Amino acid sequence: MGKTLIVRHGHITSEDGILDGADLVEALGSSTYKDWVLKHVATSRPGQLLMRGKDIDFTPTGTPVNAEIMWGRWIANCECGGQENVDKNTPWFFCLSCFNESNESKNKKTRYVRPLVFPVDPVAVESLLMERKFDKRHWLKHETIEDLVVQNEILVAEKLMAEEAQRLHDEEVIALEGV
Ligand SMILES: [Zn+2]
Repeated sequence: MGKTLIVRHGHITSEDGILDGADLVEALGSSTYKDWVLKHVATSRPGQLLMRGKDIDFTPTGTPVNAEIMWGRWIANCECGGQENVDKNTPWFFCLSCFNESNESKNKKTRYVRPLVFPVDPVAVESLLMERKFDKRHWLKHETIEDLVVQNEILVAEKLMAEEAQRLHDEEVIALEGV
C-alpha cells in the first residue's frame, strides 16, 4: 500500500516495490482486491453475460494457480490464457477472462476461487527483483532464490562491462580529437 504508481513502456509499475493487487485496486477506485473483482464481474459486459445467475464462493477450491512476477507486478496466468493481477495478502485467484469456468459447482450456480500459491519466500523474491531495473523485474514459478541471485550477479557484470566499453570508447574519441 502507499506505493507511487508510474507507467513505463506501457506497464504500470513502481520504484517503491513490487506491486500487488491491493496497490492497484486503490488507484482503480476499489477499497479491497475482493471488491475490485466483484465490481469487475458486476459491471463488465462479459461478467454480466457469463456470470448471470451465478455467485462467487471465496473459499479457495480446485487446482492451485502459481503467482509470478512480470514487469514488477504480481500476476497469475489462467489455463484459458487470461492473466490477472494478484494480491499477496489474498490467497485466491479469480480469472476475469473465463470467470473460473472450470471451477463451477455441479448445479452451475457457484464459481469458486482457486488457491493462489506464492513462492516459499515472496519477500526475498521481491527484494532481489527490486535490485534490478524495471524491465528485468520478472520471476517465473520455476526459478529459485539461487537462480535470482545468479541472474542479479550477471546483470551487475553486464552493467560493469557496458560501462567499461563506454569508457574505452570515450578515451578513443578524446585521443582522436587530440590528433
Ligand atoms: Zn481463465
